[in-house]
Amino acid sequence: MVHFIGAGPGAADLITVRGARLLGEADVIIYAGSLVNPALLDYKKEGCTVYDSASMTLEEVIAVMRETQARGGDTVRLHTGDPSLYGAIREQMDQLDELGIPYDVTPGVSSFSGAAAALEAEYTLPDVSQSVIITRMAGRTPVPEGEKLSKMASHGCTMVLFLSTGLLEEVERELMEGGYAPDTPAAIVYKATWPEEKVCRCTVSTLAQTARENHITKTALITVGGFLGDRYDRSKLYDPAFTHGFREASK
Ligand code: SAH
Repeated sequence: MVHFIGAGPGAADLITVRGARLLGEADVIIYAGSLVNPALLDYKKEGCTVYDSASMTLEEVIAVMRETQARGGDTVRLHTGDPSLYGAIREQMDQLDELGIPYDVTPGVSSFSGAAAALEAEYTLPDVSQSVIITRMAGRTPVPEGEKLSKMASHGCTMVLFLSTGLLEEVERELMEGGYAPDTPAAIVYKATWPEEKVCRCTVSTLAQTARENHITKTALITVGGFLGDRYDRSKLYDPAFTHGFREASK
């Protein structure tokens, strides 16, 4: 059996209870060493073999899973954040299907949630934005034409950019081309929930400069939008004048 597990954004105690249990039972752990906090390996049992996938190919990863399965063992494939986002798990699951090796997926706390916590922010503020666009700038991995950053930016909603910290000049240009004013609030969150976490607040037009000044080149998320500003409407849900299924309006 193979267990794909979301490790969470960094802090070792942000893995789920189920994820931690499965880590503790694994005979083999293959973890994404470039992004997963090695402190998570403290959950492993004695005798567990650990592989860092940073230097492995898909074929090598599958070969390890196959050998472990043949010995009757369980492999944990530990991905950073939640594996459904930029996790490259689909290609692994498809190969396991072909080999007839069973697997399951345990979700994790994505770094975009870790970043909101670091910012002490709410992505979906009434009358500011009710949508979050999670995307990335096209780099060595292309992005479909319909998802060009300037097009995504045209919605003016909350945006969270993964994998884009090395391309911030282009990010600024495309965000403004899409319609964000240069002074729209933005933030760079570096290593959210790790001990070395850094939160840098800036604007859309100062993203590249802010990253340079703070020596941030990777492992960061770019967040953009009015949710980082001061203005919003209070929620209807907790408004005394609003009736809903669980509460009558008091005035
Ligand atoms: N599945 C992961 C994302 C993997 S892609 C998730 O759900 O978070 C790797 C990118 O995620 C990094 O380049 C960076 O943009 C972002 N990232 C991962 N962990 C991060 C963290 N703790 N703080 C900020 N960004 C992070």
